[in-house]
Amino acid sequence: MSGKAAAPTARQASKAAFEANKLAKWLRRGVGQAIADYNMIEDGDKVMVCLSGGKDSFGLLDVLLYLREHAPIRFDIVVVNLDQKQPGFPADVLPAYLAGLGVPFRIEEQDTYSIVKRLVPEGKTTCSLCSRLRRGVLYRVAAELGATKIALGHHRDDILETLFLNMFFGGKMKAMSPKLVTDDGRHVVIRPMAYVREHDLEAWAKVRQFPIIPCNLCGSQPNLQRAQVKRMLRDWEKRFPGRIETLFRSMANVVPSHLLDAQLHDFRNLRATGVPDPQGDIAFDVEEFSNDGVVSLPPGVL
Ligand code: SF4
Repeated sequence: MSGKAAAPTARQASKAAFEANKLAKWLRRGVGQAIADYNMIEDGDKVMVCLSGGKDSFGLLDVLLYLREHAPIRFDIVVVNLDQKQPGFPADVLPAYLAGLGVPFRIEEQDTYSIVKRLVPEGKTTCSLCSRLRRGVLYRVAAELGATKIALGHHRDDILETLFLNMFFGGKMKAMSPKLVTDDGRHVVIRPMAYVREHDLEAWAKVRQFPIIPCNLCGSQPNLQRAQVKRMLRDWEKRFPGRIETLFRSMANVVPSHLLDAQLHDFRNLRATGVPDPQGDIAFDVEEFSNDGVVSLPPGVL
């Protein structure tokens, strides 16, 4: 008996092609929508796509290359990979892949690995120094390449996880910005996959057979707090379908007057206006919720 898996039947192959096509459309629509909602890419932009070799950045590049050909605006893409000289990093994988795509790219070699190993005591977490060093290198390369936008591969689940991490461990309601100006004031960073589910990126990586480079080459310990939040969100997703979508929507639907941040809402100078406002607050009413969010009572019920 041969150990080979049976070849898919014509029917299975056609179903797989149909699903892949649906997923491609779904990803492109999500990325296109986020780009439009936050005006991430404008006509004439040169977008530097940061490719780490993980599924997220491969997915980002793949979708942006498609949009470059089909979007109503004209923009360029240049890909940058930072080779941090981690032991076992397969240095030939990304250049071969990118050359095959015919996209301009630069592999920037910087031995941040040795710096981190030298400066961070054994057993301490290395990610914070490592990412600070990486950020500096990427900003410099963006300037050298004349990139007008720096695109990162963070997705919807990264954004939600960060929100909960900040609330649980940092006492802050802060997620990840879809578009921001860097701390040195010189660059605009965008996250075109802000609306894309991690689950879909995992599926897309399989469909496209990206040559994924493992992300544990540095030997760093996984971030336990992030893993814990990820588990919590995945558990909610399973037990309460739709909850993650509702949570994510809430980040784009913030009501500062109903939070406690006096920097965002002028509580101090709040006075009665004497003018009825149909959109105004109904402070004494209890809000009702369905699984989808707020349910408004039909007019005339009260
Ligand atoms: S996981 Fe490794 S490569 Fe990634 S940020 Fe942390 S130390 Fe750096």
